Amino acid sequence: MPVYEYICKDCGSEFLVFLSIKEFESNPKIRCSKCQSDNVNKKLTLFYSKTSKKS
Ligand SMILES: [Zn+2]
Repeated sequence: MPVYEYICKDCGSEFLVFLSIKEFESNPKIRCSKCQSDNVNKKLTLFYSKTSKKS
């Protein structure tokens, strides 16, 4: 499952969000885990587990 790293522009807190590809594509509102602000920036995307590619 991809992990998205966000940084809050309000309080500067960095936090991780676990979303499936489907959830991410549905453009969810990400909120800061600290101050609940949605004024956040995605920093990077990490992948925890290897997924087998199906083509
Ligand atoms: Zn915040």
